[in-house]
Amino acid sequence: MMRLTEPQYSFEQSLIECIAGITGNAALREKVTISRPNLIEGAAHYLAAAAAGKLYAIAPINAAQGQDPRVVNDLTKSELIKIYDQYFVPPEKPARKIYNELLNSAKEKCPFCGGIGTPRNLDHFLPKAHFPQFSFAPQNLVPACRDCNMDGKMEAYATTPEAQFIHPYSDSSIFFQEQWIFAKYHVQAHDVPGHFEYAVLPPGGWNEIDKRRVKKHFLDFDLGKRYSIKAAELLGTILQQISRLQNSGMGNETISAVLIQPGIEKAPFINHWQTGMFQSLKDVLQ
Ligand SMILES: [Zn+2]
Repeated sequence: MMRLTEPQYSFEQSLIECIAGITGNAALREKVTISRPNLIEGAAHYLAAAAAGKLYAIAPINAAQGQDPRVVNDLTKSELIKIYDQYFVPPEKPARKIYNELLNSAKEKCPFCGGIGTPRNLDHFLPKAHFPQFSFAPQNLVPACRDCNMDGKMEAYATTPEAQFIHPYSDSSIFFQEQWIFAKYHVQAHDVPGHFEYAVLPPGGWNEIDKRRVKKHFLDFDLGKRYSIKAAELLGTILQQISRLQNSGMGNETISAVLIQPGIEKAPFINHWQTGMFQSLKDVLQ
């Protein structure tokens, strides 16, 4: 739910760098080179589906255990995954620069939880176990923090439109520019800090599929709990500031203008935990 700039490297560039890195395996190198047009065509299909929010419609490669089906021409599932593991990821391979650029594009903030966690590696938006033809496609490689762990989660990939997570590179701007995560501040007894309850409230004009998608994203990445914890950490400081200003004779309306409103405006993006937190404190001060 945090937008990342689309990868600057195309699938074809990634493929060329991978091929350049295949050393000591002439047979694989030749197979990949022959299949280049088909692999590129498949990646174009991915881009179109991602832009339309229809990645769920791409058929997975489902093989019985121990089987290694052909996926693109003579290239098998295990060969395609091997290209990623042995010729894309290792630091000494030319394709590694693409890996690094994709990871750095997140600027230490995981796009799935809105920056609560720091990505340490790339995960596959469509899992490579079921979509090996996209295992080294830049568009399918997303930085994710350990808690979001796309590779673990996406083993159960979406097969319906409403089950798709928000894709940080290509999904509709409504998910990034319109507010759908809100918070409520539950006041406790005097001198006891309250707590924040986060919930999904998509704009009424959205279609049902988009509404269900953000609900699923919020639930599956456990954002309600993770946001509440982050807000609780900051709450003590803010309550102190409010009480200091109140004791100095400042009215709630002014406190809201000088302390709370700037907090809303300084939140990094509209569905960030700070946005909902400060909005709900503003409601309490009114
Ligand atoms: Zn995360």
